[in-house]
Amino acid sequence: MSGFVFSEKPIEIVSGEGPYLYDDGGREYLDMGASYACVPLGHGHEAVDRAVREQLDELTFVQASYPVAARTALYDLLAETAPGDAENVWLCNSGAEANEAALKFARAATGRSKIVATMQGFHGRTMGALATTWKDKYKRPYEPLIGDVEFVPYNDPAAMADAVDEETAAVIVEPIQGEGGINPGTREFLQTARVETATSGAALVMDEVQTGLGRTGRLWASDRVDVVPDMLTAAKGLGNGLPIGATLCRDWVAEAHGSHGSTFSGGPVVSAAAGATVSTLLEAEPPTRAADIGAYLRDRLAELENARAVRGEGLMIGIEVGRGANGILRELALEHGLLALPAGRTVVRLLPPLTITREHADQAVAALAAVIDG
Ligand SMILES: *Cc1c(COP(=O)(O)O)cnc(C)c1O
Repeated sequence: MSGFVFSEKPIEIVSGEGPYLYDDGGREYLDMGASYACVPLGHGHEAVDRAVREQLDELTFVQASYPVAARTALYDLLAETAPGDAENVWLCNSGAEANEAALKFARAATGRSKIVATMQGFHGRTMGALATTWKDKYKRPYEPLIGDVEFVPYNDPAAMADAVDEETAAVIVEPIQGEGGINPGTREFLQTARVETATSGAALVMDEVQTGLGRTGRLWASDRVDVVPDMLTAAKGLGNGLPIGATLCRDWVAEAHGSHGSTFSGGPVVSAAAGATVSTLLEAEPPTRAADIGAYLRDRLAELENARAVRGEGLMIGIEVGRGANGILRELALEHGLLALPAGRTVVRLLPPLTITREHADQAVAALAAVIDG
């Protein structure tokens, strides 16, 4: 397989700084997708890059059985920021792996197999995570998958209550669906998932791979609905561009998690990147800023004539455009130097770095207005 983003005119990106990317011809692009939310602090963030360089100078890798300072520091940081007491940390290399681990831990800790997931949900593309992902197109060529997954309509509390029973190992759910079109979960729905799993002895897994680390204006989107999950998964922005994922677990899950492992778990370089990213997110203002700029951006987007709906929280925003999003994205990139993402067929998705200013937001709105309303 080769690159296929804009196949008739590929954009070759050679460098990046803050919210901007530059191609081989020196052309500037405003990266309003943050390359799938992977650079919450922007490209080339000084503290993260420095931490990575310093770690490279000391030690690139040692297996996880030897404690190294960068990994230990990251364990502590993540435990400190964890919602409630989900303080036991498992590190891996991607969002799919973080969810894969969560599903395995839930099965081991409960001795049950059934997983409840949501329609339009997305949890990754490994065989287990994929089985809990809704879209048929992603699954069909690879079936049979792990089986015993029941899907309920998102934001339907009664269906959730019906589905969770004494055979349920886990409910896996995004607090705001990302790939599925930017659909915020209601408090009632997510609280129902919490209450029903607690009552039946199942584990609640909040997939915060996209919503986590300040994107929605809070460190974790679970906080918005006052849900403390049994497991929380994070990845995408965790290493500000380096590949790392995490599964945070409550004691009862961690104590009975079975035997799981990964060679690269918490390698020193990615741990250094994640440690610097999380500390910057905690010390500086990016989450609060995401809330402010996000509200401003959503208000301005709502004024677009052909925006049928603007959904989201903080800087996780979906614009329902009522026609194919891909053509719009191509025009935005090639004619206006604005990089955005799709979320389903008719939704333009924005997941910019949390560090953008009002001027960047205005620049994005102007480009979107020209293409969507033009
Ligand atoms: C992107 C995503 C994943 C998968 O993460 P990968 O790092 O691509 O494996 C899982 N869950 C959600 C909510 C995501 O947005």
